[in-house]
Amino acid sequence: GVVSEKLKIEDHSQEIVSLRPGCFDDYVGQTAAVETLKIAIQAAKMRGEPLDHILLHGPPGLGKTTVSYIIANEMGKDLTVTSGPTLEKGGDLVGILTNLGEGDILFVDEIHRIPKVVEEFLYPAMEDFAVDFVFDKGIHARSHRYRLKQFVLIGATTRVGLLSAPLRDRFGIFRTLDFYSFEELTVIIQRSAMLLKTRITDDGALELAKRSRGTPRIANRLLKRVRDYAMVRHQGLMTAKGVQEALYLEGIDDLGLTPLDRNYLETIIRFYNGGPVGIEAISATLQEETDTLVDVVEPYLLKIGLALRTSSGRRASENAYRHLNLEKRG
Ligand code: ADP
Repeated sequence: GVVSEKLKIEDHSQEIVSLRPGCFDDYVGQTAAVETLKIAIQAAKMRGEPLDHILLHGPPGLGKTTVSYIIANEMGKDLTVTSGPTLEKGGDLVGILTNLGEGDILFVDEIHRIPKVVEEFLYPAMEDFAVDFVFDKGIHARSHRYRLKQFVLIGATTRVGLLSAPLRDRFGIFRTLDFYSFEELTVIIQRSAMLLKTRITDDGALELAKRSRGTPRIANRLLKRVRDYAMVRHQGLMTAKGVQEALYLEGIDDLGLTPLDRNYLETIIRFYNGGPVGIEAISATLQEETDTLVDVVEPYLLKIGLALRTSSGRRASENAYRHLNLEKRG
């Protein structure tokens, strides 16, 4: 399979319209993180040095990859994209590292899923811009140090707690991306609608923003469903009513919860009397991967206070009962 992909930032040859912002001016929200990055970029440029390695943390779809595109763009360097689980052997990573040019950016998604043997190569690469090859075994073992160009590693992770301390400590910049506000998502939706050459009313954009789980990727995905619906049913104009109808068909409720979100809450309530219950038990009952629940489902439910995490497990809040129209027992 393809282990990494080198992307030319200037390449606009793709047929599909990209909704991904190419510069910080088009990157909505995350003001504190953006400010930190802009200062680091400017300082690095003034010194004529590469940036420090950057670790970005946050749930999927909040703009970690996008930030890396923008940084590469602003630094005028190439970006190579790979991910932790695709790097199976040390050689996979070494092959990528030796191909990086001076100041190039290497983006590693899901960096917490990098195998331990591969991670060992990252330490000297990040710290000394070198990789150590070991030849022969036992008493004849010799090692040879190969110099790399000074590259910038951007790691993205949904779970910073799973990163080993030595890896975490080698990042100079660490930022967490937060869920977006309704206002920020409204701006993103309006920009995307413009790029897609479709019309959405202000009310429609806000309605969609409220149902996007604070996540730009979801907002953009749902916008395309609403656009289809509006084309077929409403002569192309996306209104608040059209958003409601289109998303109802998608199984998305007025809080933006998906069927999986609701099943998660209903499982805690119906099978475990509201909790507390361990995540493994929920995942077994739902027959859903624990990682999906922890990385995708829970962060937003915790954020809006429908799920609660306690030392003894997960619980459904009073609001969760109310939202699902369920009675509390006992
Ligand atoms: P992640 O890497 O965190 O999973 P991405 O960077 O792939 O998320 O973002 C998903 C999509 O959401 C992008 O393709 C982009 O269109 C949109 N997006 C993300 N962040 C922003 C933002 N701050 N402003 C505008 N659009 C954004």
